[in-house]
Amino acid sequence: MIDYHLHTSRCCHAEGTPEEYLATAEKIGLREIGFADHFPLGLLNYTPRVQVTMLPEELDLYLADIEKLNVASPLVSVKTGIEIDYLPGTEEKLEQLLARANFDYVIGSIHFLDGWDFTHPVYAESYRERDLDALYETYFELVWSACRTGFFDIIGHIDVIKKFGYRPHCSIDHYLRETARVLADTDTCFELNTAGRDAPVGEFYPDRRLLEEALAQGVTITAGSDAHGPGQVGRYFDEAEKLLREVGYRELATFTKRSKNLIPL
Ligand code: ZN
Ligand code: FE
Ligand code: FE
Ligand code: ZN
Repeated sequence: MIDYHLHTSRCCHAEGTPEEYLATAEKIGLREIGFADHFPLGLLNYTPRVQVTMLPEELDLYLADIEKLNVASPLVSVKTGIEIDYLPGTEEKLEQLLARANFDYVIGSIHFLDGWDFTHPVYAESYRERDLDALYETYFELVWSACRTGFFDIIGHIDVIKKFGYRPHCSIDHYLRETARVLADTDTCFELNTAGRDAPVGEFYPDRRLLEEALAQGVTITAGSDAHGPGQVGRYFDEAEKLLREVGYRELATFTKRSKNLIPL
C-alpha cells in the first residue's frame, strides 16, 4: 500500500517531523508515501479564523524537508505532495502559484464553505443550524467545480461533509453518481481516506457507493491516512486494501511531477 496523505507539524494542528512519519512507514512496510501538508492559505489571500496551514514563508522549508527524506530511505519512496483548499475566486492566483511550484501531486480539498471551516471540531455545532439537504448540495457542487478547474490531481476526502455524522434527509445517491461522472470526465483521481474512521462519522471517505460508481466509470484511486501524527501513518490500511479489492480495484494511482502512474494493488 501507499499513503499519499500525510501532514507534519508545520500546519499547526498536526504533530511530528517528516522523519518520524517516514519511520512509521518503514516499520509497517509501505512502499511509497507522500506528504500533503496544508498549503499556506495566506498565499491565496485567505485568512481562516484559526491557523490551520503552514505559513507562506514555510513552503520552501517544507519542500526542502521532504527532499532530504528521498535520499534517507532505501525502503520507501517519498513523494512531495500538497493539500490545497479549493476556494472559489482564487483560481487565477492558484494557477500562477502552481505554475511555479514543483509538486509530485496536488490534492484538492474543501474545508471551507463561505468562511465556515466545517471540518474543524470547534465549529461542528454549526451543523445543527443548517439545512443539511442544501448543505450537501453546496458541498458537492464545490467538489465538481474543483474537479473542473483542472488544478488538482486528486480530490481529498471527497465526502468529508459527513465528518461529524450529520446526514441530509434526502438520498445522496445522485450526488455520488454525479461525483463519479465528473471525476471521470475531468480525469481526476480521488482517494480512499481512512481518517474518517476516527472522526465522529466512523467510516472511511468516501462512501462505498462512490467507490463502486467511480470504478465503473474508470476513475483511478489512491490511498491516504490523512495522518496528523506519525502514529497514524497507514491507519486501517489492512481494511482499506481489503475494501478496495472487494469493490474490484486492482490498481492504485501514484504521481511523479504531476504525471500519473498505476501500480498493482
Ligand atoms: Zn489537517
Ligand atoms: Fe483535508
Ligand atoms: Fe489532510
Ligand atoms: Zn485533510
